[in-house]
Amino acid sequence: MYEKPNANGNQPMPSGLALLRDPALNRGTGFTEAEREKYNLRGFLPPHVHNQDEQAVRVLARLRLLADPLEKFVALNALHDRNESLFFRVLCDNIDEMQPLVYTPTVGLACQKFGHIFQRPRGLFIGANDRGRIAQLLRNWPYQAGIIVVTDGERILGLGDLGANGMGIPVGKLSLYTACAGVHPQLCLPVTLDVGCNNAAMLEDPFYVGLRQRRLTGVAYDELLDEFITAASEVFPGVVIQFEDFANQNAFRLLKKYRDRICTFNDDIQGTAAVALAGILSALRITGAKFTEQKLLFLGAGEAATGIADLVVSAMIAQGLAESAARQRCWAVDSRGLVVKSRTDLAEHKLPYAHEHAPVGDLLSAIKTLKPTAIIGVAAVGGTFTQEVLEEMARINERPIVFALSNPTSQAECNAEEAYRWTKGRALFACGSPFDPVKYEGKTYVPRQGNNSYIFPGVGLGAIVSRARRITDEMFMVAARTLAQLVTESDLEQGSLYPALPRIREVSAHIAAAVAETAYKNGLAGKPRSADVLADVRSQMFDPRY
Ligand code: NAD
Repeated sequence: MYEKPNANGNQPMPSGLALLRDPALNRGTGFTEAEREKYNLRGFLPPHVHNQDEQAVRVLARLRLLADPLEKFVALNALHDRNESLFFRVLCDNIDEMQPLVYTPTVGLACQKFGHIFQRPRGLFIGANDRGRIAQLLRNWPYQAGIIVVTDGERILGLGDLGANGMGIPVGKLSLYTACAGVHPQLCLPVTLDVGCNNAAMLEDPFYVGLRQRRLTGVAYDELLDEFITAASEVFPGVVIQFEDFANQNAFRLLKKYRDRICTFNDDIQGTAAVALAGILSALRITGAKFTEQKLLFLGAGEAATGIADLVVSAMIAQGLAESAARQRCWAVDSRGLVVKSRTDLAEHKLPYAHEHAPVGDLLSAIKTLKPTAIIGVAAVGGTFTQEVLEEMARINERPIVFALSNPTSQAECNAEEAYRWTKGRALFACGSPFDPVKYEGKTYVPRQGNNSYIFPGVGLGAIVSRARRITDEMFMVAARTLAQLVTESDLEQGSLYPALPRIREVSAHIAAAVAETAYKNGLAGKPRSADVLADVRSQMFDPRY
């Protein structure tokens, strides 16, 4: 018999129309005869019972008739608002097809058009004008949040400042928490801090959903953030707070400020780092080369680049390299050329990778000079891994590691076809946006997305299950190692550096267990270790089937 899927204790069960209008409980035509009787649903539903399998087939068939990804996004959102379990069932069973619709790349366009496609609100909008009453706003949320994904909308994917329209990102990420790791939907709270917007196109758009003002900065910004963090920790004790798509002048600062005070992480910095490290470890399973002998050249020196470099350095140190030697293995080219010590224009987060070297103006020259084993594109500038760049990498390396991680697809450094063709099929390639398999000289290569969604859902779940008080770099390191170990030989055979996405729930369960183990080992867990951590994790995963 039907039981309320409630992560937070029992509230009275509605019946009749109220039940059909509660997306967390509604099963639509999937309610059985007995349930229709028990919950006074007779008459509200057409007589034929369609079970969830049939409902899912119907949803997919309708969805596939839509040609435009944004229309599909809207249709999926409407389903989410109507019947949460069916929405997650469709996502879980078709994650390869659905992830690009509920998250990158479609979510980028959905944020740009957020006000135009707006139907029902989801999550909490906290504005610059809510100073002094943020705890009250959070208490309006009807559930006990276990994880908050929060953005201030200033750097949405590679699209820049979209202000309050950035809400698409926390909503999308939390959908992936549930779909990819089974974090219960009621534990998930998307939050947008509307601190204003400096993008004129947004402010002039009549359908823009946010405050018509320029961004708060300085003390006013910090005070709002601080009130939010303090209130969230009070209202939802132990909640995990994931920072998402903050511009890098705030992202690094906020992470540093809060990481040792509350259970928090920044996915753009740390999640990206772990997924990229996992990809490198997988690539080395193919080449057999030594991790500590890799030389990485980043295109871009922002959150993603510095986050990846920091984790690579920690992993190299863990393998016996001295910190200074490990840092020498990571280099970056930003919009002004190679990041070198003599430059006077460098932001603080770039300094650890500003090495002694003559100035070099561009990526190709930097490749020729430094001879990296890997190039990692995270500058959000499309087309920068040119034919010359890729040919040079293939000239220097038998198997060059080429990660074109920028999102959305328009900002990708190169596409999969270019990566394989211009390296004669030798690139060990990963991408930020999805690309179809590529046939080159009789062999089919299957590129997989170096997408944070392999990492953050499992990390978050592990933190929730162990009630972790902090999220540490070591947790991201074990997450990366676990992910790389789950790549099969046949994945590697076809050039895939990540497991197939349909295995994501299994992958997330293993990552969550590894993260929870790290919390137990380091005295960071808020509960005693269970005898079987993986079983404990699995038992807490939300299953959308009915
Ligand atoms: P960021 O704004 O922090 O950093 C961008 C960096 O690129 C800055 O250092 C900037 O100086 C540099 N840059 C700008 N123009 C350049 C140019 N012409 N040449 C060289 N460098 C240039 O952004 P971020 O958080 O680091 O994200 C960057 C990109 O990576 C975005 O597209 C984002 O979507 C993508 N990303 C992908 C994943 C993934 O899972 N695949 C994860 C995180 C970020």
